Amino acid sequence: FAAVSVAAALSLTACGDDKGSGSGSDAAAKGKIGVILPDTKSSVRYESFDRPLLEKAFKAAGVKYDIQNAEGSTQRFQTIADQMITGGVTVLLVDGLDSNSAAAVQRKAQSQGVKTIDYDRLTLGGVADYYVSFDSTKVGEELGKGLQKCLGDKKANIAYLNGAATDNNATLFAQGAHNILDKVPNYTKVAEQAVPDWDNQKAATIFEQIYTQQGGKVDGVLAANDGLANSAISILKKNGEAGKVPVTGQDASLQGLQNILDGTQCMTVYKPVNQEADAAAKLALSLLKGEKAQTNSTINDPQGKRDVPSVFIPVIPTFKDGVKKVVGDGFVNKADLCKGA
Ligand code: BGC
Repeated sequence: FAAVSVAAALSLTACGDDKGSGSGSDAAAKGKIGVILPDTKSSVRYESFDRPLLEKAFKAAGVKYDIQNAEGSTQRFQTIADQMITGGVTVLLVDGLDSNSAAAVQRKAQSQGVKTIDYDRLTLGGVADYYVSFDSTKVGEELGKGLQKCLGDKKANIAYLNGAATDNNATLFAQGAHNILDKVPNYTKVAEQAVPDWDNQKAATIFEQIYTQQGGKVDGVLAANDGLANSAISILKKNGEAGKVPVTGQDASLQGLQNILDGTQCMTVYKPVNQEADAAAKLALSLLKGEKAQTNSTINDPQGKRDVPSVFIPVIPTFKDGVKKVVGDGFVNKADLCKGA
């Protein structure tokens, strides 16, 4: 039922065009930019968005670059970093799997005179010169507010499916969500678990256990991203409860948006990764040219006891009526989204 009205709303907006990331070329810049992405399974974003967007920005600037994915292995992460440093990378962007291995990479890079930027995830105890991301506490607060909006203020048992405990963002998402939900007197937290590696299969198993332990008395699910949300929804479906129990998510993935359209997911947090990638590319280019980089904030690294100069991009909480904006931005393709609707 809902898909029809949303499809109608979508038709009011033309599918977005992919905006260019600057036409200037600076072939004069010496050196090379390296990027290490964490994995291919915890979210579709890395290969579908981050890589092509960064690639596009580096190409437009006419600089040398090397983008690799560690595919979930910290070992591979370190090998890639070593190869990049030997291969002449002078600026390294890291989206770490865990803070220890990413910090080791950053220290090595620093000792070789390579500048580093934390991309999306902050490396606790790291030595990155800069951080580019979304404000993850704010993302968590949007998840909390979103769940509250879908649940109303009635009595509710809430289960939390958090991201990987090794990802500082996941810690901040959970903190943000608690900032909101812990203040609602009628809400009771009945379970909270971190999903190792953000693994969707493990998430389904974990959620099924929670659901069974609670005798099905779960009224809302604070899931930290769309993949975890979909895992929870699959278990709710098995129990005939999908669509009745609101589930949150993040990333505005195709699957997340489809779940929102068919009413099984309450909301997602849309993070315009194109802006994040552009900001990171811009920062990397400044460092490459030895220029001072522009930032708009700082983030505290409690482990390293320091404030890291940062660039933060605003996020957009997205419910059913907001899906058309995500399409309008060209973030997802309308034909793909409406397939099967
Ligand atoms: C990112 C999310 C992503 C998650 C799993 C987080 O660090 O910020 O966008 O869904 O990792 O890859």
